[in-house]
Amino acid sequence: MIPAMQKRTTTSILKQIKLEIEKVPEAALFSHVSPDGDCLGSMLALGIALEGLGKRVFYYNAGPLPENLNSLPGVARISMSIPEELPKTLIFVDCAEAERVNSIMTREYFQGKKVLNIDHHVSNAYFGSLNWIDPEAAATGEMIYRLIRKLGVSISKDIAINLYTAIITDTGRFSFSNTTAKSFKIAAELVKTGIDLAAINNILFERKTLSQTKLLLKALSNLEFRQGGTIAVMVLSQKDFEETGAEKNLSEGLVNYARNIENVEAAALLKEIGTKEIKVSFRSNSWLDVNRIASQFGGGGHIRASGCSLNLPLEKAKESVILALEEAINIERNN
Ligand code: AMP
Repeated sequence: MIPAMQKRTTTSILKQIKLEIEKVPEAALFSHVSPDGDCLGSMLALGIALEGLGKRVFYYNAGPLPENLNSLPGVARISMSIPEELPKTLIFVDCAEAERVNSIMTREYFQGKKVLNIDHHVSNAYFGSLNWIDPEAAATGEMIYRLIRKLGVSISKDIAINLYTAIITDTGRFSFSNTTAKSFKIAAELVKTGIDLAAINNILFERKTLSQTKLLLKALSNLEFRQGGTIAVMVLSQKDFEETGAEKNLSEGLVNYARNIENVEAAALLKEIGTKEIKVSFRSNSWLDVNRIASQFGGGGHIRASGCSLNLPLEKAKESVILALEEAINIERNN
């Protein structure tokens, strides 16, 4: 889309979302499974802003919430069950598909509801009544910042902590290729509220539990390479989680150890959640579109970071993932 046209479309959809929010007394907010700093920070920041406008807010995440996000302001308000009676306005934050909220979140929930879909995933399915999708935004948190300003709510410290968490999560502390001048500009405004940057960074990125460190050791010890070291694959079995005592959500970020190895273009981490239930994280460095690979398996995400779930035994899943990566790399090379 030409930039001027895109700007007009965004302005108009943002205005419609603002009008919708202003006229309702309550809203239900939803964020995705395997929650991360962007989905939770964005949902909480928006919820706190809506509460500031006098609205009743219901927050949902399927959980469990990662330990390092347990101190986000407002986190105690998040429910892990959906009530029978939902408000008329449902707001999905950072969800490429409605089913990313949970497996039973089907379109049935949408009957008689207004669904606002706010997301930055290029793979978004445009499932809402109003869809504000901006793949140029490094984090959904950047979009929520804009919406909160548009609603005329001032950025409190609690909102700032949540949005800063969202942005540093998805930009890898302003280091990934999705980081823009806008990311820094918004972060600067958040920092002005007096939030403790060192503490937020420490909790999110630096402090590791012993079991998490042991899990890293397991992941590194079974690292495998293909295609002359262009592909790196890591596997974490249920046994690895049992032996280290680490929760399943503590593998967040481990795939970057594989991606960061010199000459690696694409990395994958396969995590065995249950028998025949494998969660895959894909990452690439500079030219491979891993969103396309994840989409082949019914997943999605971004060009440089994506994911999917496979209902296969771990070894079979690994074979399929390696095959898909090899094929994608060969196709790119021959183009
Ligand atoms: P992860 O590897 O879980 O950190 O996810 C990387 C990116 O891909 C995030 O933006 C996720 O929201 C997205 N993603 C992960 N799994 C899926 C999936 N099954 N379907 C769609 N998007 C996904």
